[in-house]
Amino acid sequence: MIKTKIIHQPKQTLFERFYISGIIQGVWITTGHFVRNLTLHMLHRIGLFRNIPAAVTAQYPEEQKPLALRTRTRHRLTKREDGSPRCVACMMCETVCPARCIYIVAEEHPDPNIEKRPAKFDIDLGKCVYCGFCVEACPEDAIRMDTKIIDTAAYSRREMMLDINELLNPKQPIKA
Ligand code: SF4
Ligand code: SF4
Repeated sequence: MIKTKIIHQPKQTLFERFYISGIIQGVWITTGHFVRNLTLHMLHRIGLFRNIPAAVTAQYPEEQKPLALRTRTRHRLTKREDGSPRCVACMMCETVCPARCIYIVAEEHPDPNIEKRPAKFDIDLGKCVYCGFCVEACPEDAIRMDTKIIDTAAYSRREMMLDINELLNPKQPIKA
């Protein structure tokens, strides 16, 4: 016979039901961090305890922390020597994209050695999950996520849609 152990939820006191203990605990912890960091920063100023790190707030966006080399950032389309996109509109990235946020319209390439090129290439950043599958799937190294642009803030969904011109010419310079 299987014995069932019944665990009753502990009853909260009136003090706990008003979250008073939780509020006091929260204020206590926050004040502790504040005092610790303030003290350490003041001691660092006069050259003491520099081996003990204090919390630092980065003043984003004016101050940006360096990104790891492998961080996937906003997409760009790479170019050929003549400035045209390397993309051959094979649709591999559009097919593999789990968010279905790449929209390509292909057209014939004027160069008979290249089959196709994108007439339209849009990426909806509002849907993108930054998985990088599009980059992995591309057989031409035509799409990369190395612009180091991490913000995607916009006032409307339309502004989050990148077209081929924005993808070929990212607004922010790509730092090495
Ligand atoms: S990073 Fe992922 S979700 Fe975003 S466009 Fe590429 S494949 Fe789609
Ligand atoms: S996988 Fe590469 S070549 Fe193919 S459509 Fe996408 S970006 Fe273009």
